[in-house]
Amino acid sequence: MTLSIVLFTSDLRLHDHPPLRAALDGSDAVVPLFVRDEAVADAGFTAPNRMAFLADCLTDLDAGLRERGGRLVVRSGDVVAEVCKVVAEADADEVHMAAGVSGYAHRREERLRAALEAEGCRLHVHETVITAVAPGAVTPASSDHFAVFTPYHRQWARQPLRDAVAAPRVVRVPDGVGSEEIPARSGVSGVSPSLAAGGETEGRKRVSAWLRNGIGAYEDRHDDMPGDATSRLSPFIHFGALSPVELVHRSAAAGGPGAEAFVRQLAWRDFHHQVLAVRPDASTADYRTKHDRWRSEDVAHDDIEAWREGRTGYPVVDAGMRQLRQEGWMHNRARLLTASFLVKTLYVDWRIGARHFLSLLVDGDVANNQLNWQWMAGTGTDSRPNRVLNPVTQAKRYDPDGVYVRRWVPELAGLDGRAVHEPWKLQGLDRAAYDYPDPIVELPEGLARFREGRGLAD
Ligand code: FAD
Repeated sequence: MTLSIVLFTSDLRLHDHPPLRAALDGSDAVVPLFVRDEAVADAGFTAPNRMAFLADCLTDLDAGLRERGGRLVVRSGDVVAEVCKVVAEADADEVHMAAGVSGYAHRREERLRAALEAEGCRLHVHETVITAVAPGAVTPASSDHFAVFTPYHRQWARQPLRDAVAAPRVVRVPDGVGSEEIPARSGVSGVSPSLAAGGETEGRKRVSAWLRNGIGAYEDRHDDMPGDATSRLSPFIHFGALSPVELVHRSAAAGGPGAEAFVRQLAWRDFHHQVLAVRPDASTADYRTKHDRWRSEDVAHDDIEAWREGRTGYPVVDAGMRQLRQEGWMHNRARLLTASFLVKTLYVDWRIGARHFLSLLVDGDVANNQLNWQWMAGTGTDSRPNRVLNPVTQAKRYDPDGVYVRRWVPELAGLDGRAVHEPWKLQGLDRAAYDYPDPIVELPEGLARFREGRGLAD
């Protein structure tokens, strides 16, 4: 009897799962394995919101496998050591897994390959499980990756996609391979009060609803902050409860400008992944340094705290930061505004902002988070690195009636559309009626500091 192990990582699903399909086709039985990797915890990457969502995903994966006659095996520890133990226990011939993108994922793969080879066991690594187009599959003539999105997207869109793989009907798992208990969301503390439920089943329901009711208006409404009209699929995509390849196919089948705009966002995700794949240092170091003299935690502690807590005195910035805390998720326009405020208006190191986002975001992802922060900081791939988003004009444009702000900053609930974005303009008693801070910095002062720090001042 031949036996394969499928090591699940950021691909917690049964539909469109090429490693599982290959393992089932090539062997009589499989061990679906997830290792709670101690290195991920040691690196501080186990934020409660993501741990809770992960627990939902594992519970759902186990349930899906049980419906098919199998089960999920969960272990904890060093991922390489645990896989080797399971290989020995099950007498496995092969291990299948998805190709990762980060520096850590590459090192994990190399270590695993070497350890398994020593045991006479083969490692198969599958591309296009975590991204729709594999990093490196499209490159410009003169470089190993694209540094600009538009030409990347042009080639990305021309790339033939593999067909989506059907979910298996039956999964045979041998007896005698023990598992820890599947972690439960209820066992995680410090979770945001309105965190979404996770898991492939939930994700697939949301995709169906999105394709029916949401995607058609996406092009027009993706920046509508109060309308909340984006897909909110990011955590499912991050954990691989949804397949990017399948999402592209299903969105393209829906057709129209909304679908086109949505698929373009999925290409942004692949774009950041292909940058990180060749520049793993971009998770912590400037991709293109501007020799900034950022303000650090020591120098700007009070400003950073006000930003984290949503007390900057700029309502739209505070609304975004409070949504992040409450839901573990933030609207993309709010991410742009809050990030611009920290790095440009407060001139604080982007790494401080990225770290805070990662401590709360349920979709928190090294490629997308760090490279979007770098984009906003102007140290990444933005071709206008010195752009500064004005939080007042942006708020008036994307939240014209102040509905988003009033939703998240209840202190200002009594103010109408215009006044809610500039409460400091209220006079006397009117001003005193609102228990809300004055702006921590004047916008021209922030701009001057940024220009000076970046060496742009006249
Ligand atoms: P939709 O608008 O419905 O887009 C569909 C999908 O496309 C998303 O789910 C996501 O997978 C992808 N996508 C959309 N926009 C981007 C983008 N700019 N870059 C990469 N992929 C994108 N996204 C994350 O998934 N994880 C992060 O940690 C993350 N951190 C960010 C930090 C900052 C400072 C900024 C400005 C953006 C960040 N984003 C991140 C990108 C984007 O904000 C989220 O993907 C999006 O808001 C998720 O909501 P949605 O699923 O409704 O997106």
